[in-house]
Amino acid sequence: MRALLVTGSGATPSVESVTLPDVGPGAVRVKVRAAGICHSDLSMIDGKLSPQFPLTLGHEAAGVVVETGAGVDTVKPGDHVVLNWSPACRRCWFCENGEPWLCVTSGTPSAPGGVLADGTPVHVTLGLGALADEVVVPARAVIAVPQLLPFDAAALLGCAVLTGVGAVNNTARVRPGESVLVVGLGGVGLSVIVAARAAGAGRIIAVDVSEAKRALAVSAGATDYLVSDDTLHKSVRALTEGRGVDHAFECVGRSTTIRTAWRAARRGGRVTVVGMGAKDDLVSLSALDIFHSAKTLRSSVYGNADPDVEVPELAARVVDGSLDLAPLITHRITLEQAPEAFARMARGEGARSVVIFE
Ligand SMILES: [Zn+2]
Ligand SMILES: [Zn+2]
Repeated sequence: MRALLVTGSGATPSVESVTLPDVGPGAVRVKVRAAGICHSDLSMIDGKLSPQFPLTLGHEAAGVVVETGAGVDTVKPGDHVVLNWSPACRRCWFCENGEPWLCVTSGTPSAPGGVLADGTPVHVTLGLGALADEVVVPARAVIAVPQLLPFDAAALLGCAVLTGVGAVNNTARVRPGESVLVVGLGGVGLSVIVAARAAGAGRIIAVDVSEAKRALAVSAGATDYLVSDDTLHKSVRALTEGRGVDHAFECVGRSTTIRTAWRAARRGGRVTVVGMGAKDDLVSLSALDIFHSAKTLRSSVYGNADPDVEVPELAARVVDGSLDLAPLITHRITLEQAPEAFARMARGEGARSVVIFE
């Protein structure tokens, strides 16, 4: 089968032929029907997450179960499923204490998963490697969804949307009428806007580095759009009666934008870091500011969500029309066009590109 492979840190991904492992006990084989191009895949390519190479990219996908291994009773061939890159073990301390998104077994950047034609072992991104015709994954890494749900929307539920909606509903707990700032308008940032609107937020101020994302932000539900600069916190205060926003979401993963979000939040406001940054990028806040501002700074990992519960809930909302994901997808492409989509994302253009497999 074909897979989008990267041979080493900084290399350009290309479509290669990969042989998957057999479907062992507890595993399933899924024919991928749609897979999104996510920023974390870029962090695999540039080595920020230190995966093993050669590496099959992709972790935001949906498809159809085609084979199940011994002992699998949660799904059957023909079921439509969303892939879950953080499947919970349900046995560790975090799982047993209601925080499955922090499961000790999840979050490994890469895992073994197949071989190249010459026998070289291949690793797969986040245990999935979903930018491929097929994947073989543990049954707990798939979540059944209704057949009525389009595959492109289903794919996004597996990463960007669960992350964005979870940050709004589970981490920040945005209430009706509250003001929201969203810094960084990739797939996750736009998902945060969609979720904030669905949660009944009042003012939703979207921020990016240029005018290019204005139309996308407005179609997702932003009420205001600002281009980031050194005086951004003043512009935000001007829109919020001089106070700053109730909630600031940082969806970039950089110390500068975390500072921007912090400064734009009101006293007592909540700053939610959704973007994943680098380990040597330090955020500087004064001890007096931390005390006096009474703000909360919190990260949101995979939306602080239990995907097994929340993906089916989100799927139902997409099917009944109460959650509109259309503004999030700007490009539907083939697997061969995926390298171009990575370049587009690195330049900060468009929203999600989704590979559609026939
Ligand atoms: Zn992702
Ligand atoms: Zn666990």
